Amino acid sequence: MSANELIDPFGRKVTYVRMSVTDRCDFRCVYCMSEEMTFLPRAQVLTLEEMQFIARAFSELGVNKIRLTGGEPLVRRNVLSLVQGIGTLPGITNLAMTTNGSQLPTMAADLRKAGLKSINISLDTLDGEQFTQLTRTGKIEKVLAGIDAAVAADFPGIKLNAVVMKGRNDDQVVALVEYARARNIDISFIEEMPLGNIEEHDRGETLCTSEDVRELISERFKLIAGTENSGGPSRYYHMADHPSKIGFISPHSHNFCGDCNRVRVTSEGKLLLCLGNEYSADLRDTVRRYPGDLDRLKETLHDAVTRKPERHFFSSEGEVDIVRFMNMTGG
Ligand code: SAM
Ligand code: SF4
Repeated sequence: MSANELIDPFGRKVTYVRMSVTDRCDFRCVYCMSEEMTFLPRAQVLTLEEMQFIARAFSELGVNKIRLTGGEPLVRRNVLSLVQGIGTLPGITNLAMTTNGSQLPTMAADLRKAGLKSINISLDTLDGEQFTQLTRTGKIEKVLAGIDAAVAADFPGIKLNAVVMKGRNDDQVVALVEYARARNIDISFIEEMPLGNIEEHDRGETLCTSEDVRELISERFKLIAGTENSGGPSRYYHMADHPSKIGFISPHSHNFCGDCNRVRVTSEGKLLLCLGNEYSADLRDTVRRYPGDLDRLKETLHDAVTRKPERHFFSSEGEVDIVRFMNMTGG
């Protein structure tokens, strides 16, 4: 392996890092968190400077895409300074964020100016009551205003993300596609993943597969399979009469693992080599024990990547293999 890139034992090159900038959130989505959550003490969470340093190490090892996520990245104080900092790293050509949209009415324009290129905004329903049921604390008006603000800020890439649950919001699928089309933005539908113990519903019962969702959309729009490969669990479709793309994220299928190009960093600085299992390395320990030592950090990253597993092992029955919640993982 070259000293300037991260290649795992299966020949896969790591070019994409998802960083969770906080485990906290202003929502409590039923598939992501329990109603009562205990968040990490601040001292355990990486500082923004530590995150910037880790991003720099990755960028010097061939990573060109970083996605900031959480928790809700926009509730982290001064997150704009991190966006600005990572935006100036020479190797990073795509700086992205996944957000619930609640802070976008006031932050979208500044994020765009700070160098954010693409933004994924979660929206599971257009029905205000359903929205409050699914997010427990969210108000749909703010998120819809946030999407308008993102469209007005002219991000090169805007995509909606919707987790679909049977009997909860599967009646919204076609309306969400129409909403995305009206704004010329893309939309992805996500299968619920068995992350964290959730008592609110039985995941085996609510699982709505990508195939189920595709069928619902096909009743209204003609879908044409795309050829692009995201290096992840997304498959894209086009519509015959419109440029908006429709993605299907099927984490239960493991047939994307062979092309996997990504790793994750949690808000406490754990490097997760695969979403579906517990292999990790402690980057916080390295950056706190050897402050400012970029070579030492790169060594830790090189060493960790040699332990990236070949594939994940999610069960398809909705059983919990992983006790981490999604907000810890950085979805
Ligand atoms: N708070 C931001 C948001 O909601 O977009 C970013 C973090 S959130 C964990 C990232 C994405 O993960 C969201 O699109 C959310 O819908 C999705 N998500 C959360 N829990 C999930 C689960 N158990 N299965 C599948 N997707 C999940
Ligand atoms: Fe918060 Fe995002 Fe999880 Fe919803 S999915 S609780 S918005 S972190």
